[in-house]
Amino acid sequence: MNDIENIKDKMLGCLYGQAIGDALGLGSEFMKKDEVSKKYPDGLCRYEQIIQDAHRGRWPIGAWTDDTDMMLCILSAFEHGKFNVHKVAQNFKDWFNGEPMDIGGHTFKVLCTRDYVEQPKMWSELWWNLSNRESAPNGALMRTSVVGLAHDNVEIQATEICKLTHYDPRCIGSCVIASLIIHNLVWNNYRLLYNDIKEIAKKFDERIIEWVELAYRNIDISALDLDQKYSTGYTLRTLAAALWCYWHASSFKEGLLAIVNEGGDADTNGAIACAVLGAKFGYSSVPKYYIENLNNRAMYHQQITTFINQVIDEKA
Ligand SMILES: [Mg+2]
Repeated sequence: MNDIENIKDKMLGCLYGQAIGDALGLGSEFMKKDEVSKKYPDGLCRYEQIIQDAHRGRWPIGAWTDDTDMMLCILSAFEHGKFNVHKVAQNFKDWFNGEPMDIGGHTFKVLCTRDYVEQPKMWSELWWNLSNRESAPNGALMRTSVVGLAHDNVEIQATEICKLTHYDPRCIGSCVIASLIIHNLVWNNYRLLYNDIKEIAKKFDERIIEWVELAYRNIDISALDLDQKYSTGYTLRTLAAALWCYWHASSFKEGLLAIVNEGGDADTNGAIACAVLGAKFGYSSVPKYYIENLNNRAMYHQQITTFINQVIDEKA
């Protein structure tokens, strides 16, 4: 592969990874790990295994959820070489008005305000303040992968897009770290190192560092307690899931299956972890089964390849 083909392969890997991790992760979302192994005694590894209970039965088999819906809201706001942040907010609101099948609690509160599109960051900050500045869920991290594919100004764009709904510095730091990992894999053929990531973390919030260390030091994913009952949707736990895959999974499939069989917020953990894995190992490393059996695959393929060509053309 030449340079451009290699870049395209990683971009495609990243965006397919996002949807695949989200779609397979739905199969164990909100489950404890022992429940996952009871429901899927041979392990969750295929879309058609997904049990059709009251939560999961609402989606067609192989469908992604809000994580990838919101990523597409960002993707479709790309114009003239960058993401139009106002248009992203408009897209979020339009998506919200379409009554999506699921939406995070914090994201709901921010998006339901009448004049959200006019002043998104004011509402985002207000709801964060109302939580005593404690609320730091993974609703911005779950959609940030595509920001890493921009050719430049990734840190600024990831920050601005995160703040449209999530104001906490732990949320912003998570988005910046995940986006910069992806950006460096794709555009610089460089793997950000442990110390690189800790330096970025420090700029945003010291509390990020212990989660970076947790992911780095543990060979066994169970150390992350991804199914921990009271903070499954915590942005730093999800960041740790993505970092764990980045450092410890030896292939796309190995990381995907490790994540989805841990339960917890598995669709979101899967979305960002597999976006990172796809950027690291490339589209050519993603087993064809997961691509071909995604629900709405043709539409998705069209939308993401148009975006990828646009990013590359507008860079040149
Ligand atoms: Mg979801």
